[in-house]
Amino acid sequence: MVEVIVGGGVIGLSVAWRLARAGRPVTVVDPDPAGGASHAAAGMLAPVSEVTYTEEPLLRLGLASLRRWPAFAAELAADAGLPEGARGVDLRTEGTLDVAFGADDLAALDELAAFMEKLGLPVERLTGRECRRLEPMLAPSVRGGLLAAGDAWVDPRRVTAALLAALERREVPLVRTRVTALLREDEPAGRVARGRREDTPEDRSAGLPRQDGPEGRVAGLRHADEAAGRVTGVRLEGGAELPATTVVLAAGAWSAALAGVPVRPVKGQILRLRSPQPLLTRCVRGSVHGSPVYLVPRGDGELVVGATQEELGFDTRVTAGGLYELLRDARELVPGVTELELADVVAGLRPGTPDNVPIVGPAGDGLVLATGHHRGGVLLAPLTAALVAGEAGGEEGGLAALCSPARFGEIA
Ligand code: FAD
Repeated sequence: MVEVIVGGGVIGLSVAWRLARAGRPVTVVDPDPAGGASHAAAGMLAPVSEVTYTEEPLLRLGLASLRRWPAFAAELAADAGLPEGARGVDLRTEGTLDVAFGADDLAALDELAAFMEKLGLPVERLTGRECRRLEPMLAPSVRGGLLAAGDAWVDPRRVTAALLAALERREVPLVRTRVTALLREDEPAGRVARGRREDTPEDRSAGLPRQDGPEGRVAGLRHADEAAGRVTGVRLEGGAELPATTVVLAAGAWSAALAGVPVRPVKGQILRLRSPQPLLTRCVRGSVHGSPVYLVPRGDGELVVGATQEELGFDTRVTAGGLYELLRDARELVPGVTELELADVVAGLRPGTPDNVPIVGPAGDGLVLATGHHRGGVLLAPLTAALVAGEAGGEEGGLAALCSPARFGEIA
């Protein structure tokens, strides 16, 4: 029997790849692998510049995963047969520059710099002129900045393509269909099927995997008197069953439909511009009109501008307003962006959790969760895969407690 990975986004594919490398038999199930949030993501590996005052656990997880990225990228490139090594997934390490315009922004940056220094994070406070020396295309109105030289980024679309190639070379089966339910040892036949709710028109118009669940509540959320049986496999669309020694649930924003995990979709619109010459050499972030915006340059001249954060359920429409705000704010940081070609606009669904920390680890017999990575799934993919594959030891192993499902009580 095999270990079944439900979901082939950056998390599910990374987990499957590490398990397969360790010689464990795995199967991935996903109707649209490498789609989902991973297709939308900018790919920043930026635990330092993304730090907030209340998210120290996330910072610790992010720093540990960032340390893993160079070896992860190099091994992945070798396994996928990419001749250019880690550059094949566009791993870049030039750091992130957080810039400020007004007096309030500068004061906030000073405060953040002090907080980061207290945590021992390597950041450098720069004047406006120093910022423009590093990035000449920055607006003249930029008055200061904070350089997080250790932050990095990758191209998530190249990462998932490489993961799929590596899995194919290892002959890992990829089942292109949807999982409708987890099979449990004590599951009375037909219980889940009877309780299935219909797709909403919104689900269908957004092209989402269908949501299953007992009427009136999300599948997996159990009443106190229901016993959680051992998970023995998954039921596929059409009714076929796939038995498994372990099921790894990595279905991103859709995870709550299959198990009682507190994961919700957080919409992000993001656009990709194209220029003959790269406009920037490092990631640039800033707060414009009170909303954060970032620009991520790729080696091939692509410039990613992101991203909105919207609590709109399973809505993946790209809106005129979202596009307008992103371009307006990006132009404040780098006026030259308006000259670039608009290449791509998408909306993705981040798998958000109540504390913004992912949910990774065993959740009962036969079930492992690898979900809820919210804004940082690309960054956290190497660490998540290592934790699930049992490759993380020592200090890293200790981080498992930070993202353990146990912090939310019993998961069905
Ligand atoms: P997903 O990539 O969403 O994959 C889930 C997969 O599960 C999908 O392929 C889906 O088809 C499949 N699935 C769902 N239901 C079922 C089912 N019933 N049966 C089988 N398969 C199913 N993170 C960063 O680290 N850095 C960034 O710069 C960054 N930028 C982002 C920008 C935007 C606009 C967005 C939206 C996200 C960004 N993120 C970023 C977050 C990151 O994209 C996510 O955390 C990450 O992609 C989550 O990966 P995942 O594999 O869990 O989910």
